[in-house]
Amino acid sequence: MVPAISKKERLLSEIRKQVEQCIRCQLSQTRTNTVFGEGNADAVVMFIGEAPGEDEDKTGRPFVGRAGKLLTNILHSVSLKREKVFIANTVKCRPPGNRAPKDEEMQCCFPYLEAQIAVINPTLIVTLGGVSTAFLMDEKISISKIRGRMIEWRGGKKIFPMYHPSFLLRYQSQKPGSPRYQTWQDIQEVKKTIDLVLLAGNGNE
Ligand code: SF4
Repeated sequence: MVPAISKKERLLSEIRKQVEQCIRCQLSQTRTNTVFGEGNADAVVMFIGEAPGEDEDKTGRPFVGRAGKLLTNILHSVSLKREKVFIANTVKCRPPGNRAPKDEEMQCCFPYLEAQIAVINPTLIVTLGGVSTAFLMDEKISISKIRGRMIEWRGGKKIFPMYHPSFLLRYQSQKPGSPRYQTWQDIQEVKKTIDLVLLAGNGNE
């Protein structure tokens, strides 16, 4: 039997179709595939990274390279499956040479992310790395200073910045105070939020 598609999934599919045809910014000229994002349309938590890289551009899926595998492992460390959260980026097309997306590109692409957030309606938005954090908060602040803090954001939502997995790949130490250790602390906070929301009966995760 074909599983029924929820209203949220249908709405996300409509946004995806728009993204696939989008030529609003120059990144459309060099992409192989758009990377819409993937996961649970009812997710309590959305993870938002910077931009698709080479592997993501090839496959059309977010966070599938080395950094993506690390993100998956970070989620698994608190018994979270990728399919239970929603994973996206600030831009849907790969910046050439994996450069950071320009502010005007993120602005141009933001209506899609905004629409995804509106449909999914997550309680928590985990920004991965300084670029997506600064963009959504509209404020430049060092990720090492702001990670692990719950920050009020638009209409009752919260932003929770964490290190980007590609940054963590540079550090192997898991000693207290190291970026990997801090990330392990952070993901436990994320899991606590999910558990609280589910306990209150406000999510389908
Ligand atoms: S990055 Fe976003 S705005 Fe730019 S072409 Fe891709 S989908 Fe369109």
